[in-house]
Amino acid sequence: MKIFKRTFDSTALTLLWILFGNFTITNAQKDTKDKPNFIIIFADDLGYGDLSSYGHPTIHTPNLDRMAFEGQKWTNFYVGASVCTPSRAALLTGRLPVRSGMASNKHRVLFPDSKNGLPSSEITIAEQLKKAGYNTACIGKWHLGHKEQYLPTNNGFDYYFGIPYSNDMDYVGKDIPGYKKLVQQNPENLKTENYNVPLLRNLEIVERPANQNTITKRYAEETISFIKQNKNQPFFVYMAHSLPHIPLFASKEFMGKSERGLYGDVVEEIDHGVGKILKALEDEELAENTIVMFTSDNGPWLPFETHGGSAGLLRAGKGTTWEGGMREPAIFWGPGLVKPGLITDLGSTMDLFATFSSMAGIQVPKDRIMDSFDLSETLRGHNPSPRKSILYYRGTELYAARLGDYKAHFITEGAYGQFGERTEHQTPLLFNLNHDASEQYNIAGDNEEIIRKIREMVQNHQSKLVRGKDQLAERE
Ligand code: MG
Repeated sequence: MKIFKRTFDSTALTLLWILFGNFTITNAQKDTKDKPNFIIIFADDLGYGDLSSYGHPTIHTPNLDRMAFEGQKWTNFYVGASVCTPSRAALLTGRLPVRSGMASNKHRVLFPDSKNGLPSSEITIAEQLKKAGYNTACIGKWHLGHKEQYLPTNNGFDYYFGIPYSNDMDYVGKDIPGYKKLVQQNPENLKTENYNVPLLRNLEIVERPANQNTITKRYAEETISFIKQNKNQPFFVYMAHSLPHIPLFASKEFMGKSERGLYGDVVEEIDHGVGKILKALEDEELAENTIVMFTSDNGPWLPFETHGGSAGLLRAGKGTTWEGGMREPAIFWGPGLVKPGLITDLGSTMDLFATFSSMAGIQVPKDRIMDSFDLSETLRGHNPSPRKSILYYRGTELYAARLGDYKAHFITEGAYGQFGERTEHQTPLLFNLNHDASEQYNIAGDNEEIIRKIREMVQNHQSKLVRGKDQLAERE
């Protein structure tokens, strides 16, 4: 009887919904309600091996691990470049930085005296999601131009709180022998006042030098307050942490706490903020309709030894086109939207543009070449990733290409004085990355056909490539 009653009730409710539901909720309200919220949490210089869920033995990241367990953990996920500025441009535009001009062979990133920034002709994810009625915020490090026209609020973001370039710039300390020696001599020398980096709210400088001891905590607070203010409409937050890029800073509660030392303190504070953001989403009953995505802009800055991160089993780090420079942890969490699992298919930060556009119900721009694949059906657990290849650029030069399991290096070069000089390879080095993630065993000799296919893919890409004007070269 009880069963019958329940069935009757639900049938009656369904009938009522069919008869009256469409009249009580307007289409516009329904559209907005259906659109998921998106939060990207982007670490700076965090390596593939720096989270406990990606194998680190002494850094504890329970909140990110929870996201990986309840969501999707991707193990072949890449960034668009191995240093800050071009990597950020790639994520925000869904295009290779060589197309937007946000890659250069003269300067690898933007500096406080750089003249230019992200061209206004580029469409950022924020500008794209605004078309679908999203409220948007950029919290954290920008690094796509510090002049007014280049700042987040002129690139599709309604709100900005953060630093305009890297946390090691605007150095004003006296007579230092360099960061590494300084810290080795006495960690007390690590003073936030030595870096005269401004902290902005929208277009105003609200603090200079930015207090970097508390900045990680404040980014989390700002993100949570934006979530709460915007809980009744779809929102997008691009939360780009300025750490664990050196110089390393953590707030009092985290200093000296991690078994991994200061670098671990910083990562654990970022993780703590992730936990608070997840809790805020749950408290506001937004978790079922929000995707939180975590990754990092490039691999670890290895010359800084214990102050740099770890690429785990991947070769080399930041600045190189070896896997350690460009493959990153990538976690998608969304209890109502993402089917949990381990994903070994290919993905890229550039794919977030098409993926979020598709989930928000809007078309990607048709007037330009995009490098963005829609991963939404992979997130839902329906289909494998549509991405089959990765192009590894250094500046404006293509150094390597991956097709399926195989990666060919046409040029190899270390960075920051490590991992060797630039070398061009007549016959590329070839690695099967699924068998040999550490790129140790060159198998070019036995695989001419695979090399031919990768060359063909590269030629096809290059024949259509229109290079953007270099935005990083000019300084004042
Ligand atoms: Mg970086």
